[in-house]
Amino acid sequence: MAKRILIVGGGLAGTIVANGLCRQLAGELASGGATITMLGATDKHMYQPGLLYVPFGRIREAELFRDQRKVLDRRVAFHVDPAKHIDAETKTVTTESGKTFSGDYLVIATGSRIRPDNIPGMEEGGHWFYDLDGARKMRDALATFEGGKIVVNVNVPHKCPVAPLEITFMLRDYLKGRGILDKSEITYTYPVGRLHTLEPVAAWAVPEFESSGIKSETFFNTKEVDPKKKTVTSEEGTTLKYDLLVTIPPHSGQQVILDSELGAGGWVPTERETLLREGSKEVFVVGDTTNLPISKAGSTAHFEADTIVDNIASLVKEERWARFYDGKVFCFVETGLHSGTYVWFNYTTPPNPGPPSQMIHWFKLAYNRLYWLSARGLL
Ligand SMILES: Cc1cc2nc3c(=O)[nH]c(=O)nc-3n(C[C@H](O)[C@H](O)[C@H](O)COP(=O)(O)OP(=O)(O)OC[C@H]3O[C@@H](n4cnc5c(N)ncnc54)[C@H](O)[C@@H]3O)c2cc1C
Repeated sequence: MAKRILIVGGGLAGTIVANGLCRQLAGELASGGATITMLGATDKHMYQPGLLYVPFGRIREAELFRDQRKVLDRRVAFHVDPAKHIDAETKTVTTESGKTFSGDYLVIATGSRIRPDNIPGMEEGGHWFYDLDGARKMRDALATFEGGKIVVNVNVPHKCPVAPLEITFMLRDYLKGRGILDKSEITYTYPVGRLHTLEPVAAWAVPEFESSGIKSETFFNTKEVDPKKKTVTSEEGTTLKYDLLVTIPPHSGQQVILDSELGAGGWVPTERETLLREGSKEVFVVGDTTNLPISKAGSTAHFEADTIVDNIASLVKEERWARFYDGKVFCFVETGLHSGTYVWFNYTTPPNPGPPSQMIHWFKLAYNRLYWLSARGLL
């Protein structure tokens, strides 16, 4: 009997799992000993980290997208038919069109979504760069900005742990480039008592903020935005006035996860080393959709996906596990429009950001293009 692998979600993690399995199970796929099916919500694949550059006009929108069919190995049976219900016990998925798909192995890779609607006034009063529409509107708002108060308002949970710091430093350089930094004030808000959840990153950011004159408000859990008064208020009782509000909206998991009762907030309880859904033997969870207390990032999704590829291939071929996920995350960090650094960490090693350099910024720009090779499994 062919081993059927069913992947739900065709973003970064699902794509790397699918393409990696095609390589490792080439013989089984050719002989009919395995099949790989993917259910996606769209026929386009978006490179989300590229959104960071849209507000500054530093990337062409076309560079963000490829046809998902072209990114996927041709041996993957790809259906644009979003999952409506996932039954993790029977590994069966019912789609929006009413079809039913089952697998011997199920991989849940549906990612996360922004929820500005969860905070009163944020949709009307805030700008963000976490989706294309938002990034375009932020680009337009910046183009007409002539100086004033910018509040960078960070809410959790959110994907890409360093994007809020990156956008802050890039805004500083952008304002400087337009000659309006002196007429502007940037205030960064963060929900806990420091500039970042990861303590070493928070400590690294302090002198960067001080040398740039960037202000901060910690313990700022956003309660509401008042678009008329142009204020943002925290649960802790602080109110900040803004001329431009740049928010990182809170995120949740996808509706299908909630509707299928697979996890509170849309995050699926996941074993940290095997990446199995808690309580399941052949249901893997990968990328943003896990409930693991680690960064929701493309690199996390990539390293997790590589682990799942090795394990599913090993289970199919030899009925044994290959290896465990060690919590590895690697992120480039833009520290302005012309410099960058990077952090890496895992379950046991904390991050240790180094001094910024132009070279690392160029690496990040290069990776923005190399991503497509990486998603295909060629890098
Ligand atoms: C502005 C920005 C900057 C970022 N910068 C970085 C960075 O520098 N470095 C980094 O490592 N990460 C970065 N990230 C984060 C990174 O993009 C995500 O963490 C990564 O894409 C997560 O991969 P995923 O496969 O879990 O989710 P996604 O890539 O979001 O894929 C989920 C897929 O599931 C599909 N889907 C949803 N619902 C259904 C359904 N019901 N049925 C079927 N399919 C469904 C979606 O259409 C999507 O294709 C950034 C993100 C943003 C927004």
